[in-house]
Amino acid sequence: MPFGVMFHHFHSRKIKKFGQGSIDKNQFENIIKFLKKNFTILTPEEWILKVEKKKLKKKDICLTFDDALLSQYDVALKILNKYNLKAFWFIYSSVFNGEIDNFEIHRKFRSIYYKNFDEFFFNFSNHTDKNFILKKIKKYKIFFKFMKKFYPIYSDKDIEFRFLRDHVLTQIQYNNILNKMMTEKKTNKKKLSKNLWLKNSHLKKLSNAGHMIGMHAYNHPYKLSELNYVKQLDELKKNFIHLKKVLNKEPISISYPNGSFNKDTLKIINKLKIKCGFLSNMKSYKKLYPKEYVLRRLDHSIVMKEFIK
Ligand SMILES: [Zn+2]
Repeated sequence: MPFGVMFHHFHSRKIKKFGQGSIDKNQFENIIKFLKKNFTILTPEEWILKVEKKKLKKKDICLTFDDALLSQYDVALKILNKYNLKAFWFIYSSVFNGEIDNFEIHRKFRSIYYKNFDEFFFNFSNHTDKNFILKKIKKYKIFFKFMKKFYPIYSDKDIEFRFLRDHVLTQIQYNNILNKMMTEKKTNKKKLSKNLWLKNSHLKKLSNAGHMIGMHAYNHPYKLSELNYVKQLDELKKNFIHLKKVLNKEPISISYPNGSFNKDTLKIINKLKIKCGFLSNMKSYKKLYPKEYVLRRLDHSIVMKEFIK
């Protein structure tokens, strides 16, 4: 089955390692070599053409980068150029307007200021009433099972943390806890946001070089599917308009932030004439949704774990 390979964080001697499964130039090159040997890596244009004609072959894959991270441009692009490969870059727009995305800042914070995830989680737990989890124990069990199946890289504590963050605390409660923790470590959001995200000039360069810039909503909402139609429309339209303005052409692809979407999302992207939509896992929806809007993606960490020894 065809799929996109999903990449997020990269590090180098200059760029500190943060984000689960962050990789360096050499690891990226090894993945590329493996993929080239075993699959056909299509350019975004070839991929979309084949999606439209329903001609994707079993071994067809494409490369995708989410979240507009500068480290992708600084580290991964050199390797893409070396092998003359083009990729999808899925961009959320708020950070191009000087807004700060808490999600990415928090990820960077917890990786840079703590020795490991456990240390962060210990500190986080001290600020959180974990008894809340017990009140939602049934939901937690279902969540735990789902995460283990589709995100095997996450440890038990990772999953517990994500449940607390996404299903127990409100966003305001969560942000307040993280703000407190940052202050305790004598840092803040502004310091952490330095050199984190791409700029419009990068998007133009990528697009002119044959890469495809696609949508990823405006604010990178945790769960697009939990927003009503009007709010989703706002998220997607603002993202669409930003990319259209910078690139002088309308985006035709999307990856759903955190893989979250519902029927309203598909209605909206259909109106925007989006030609392909990517999930963030390998879930198969059979005939529930149009095939071109539930394209599967495999996280690079799974490629490394399962195939590259
Ligand atoms: Zn994302």
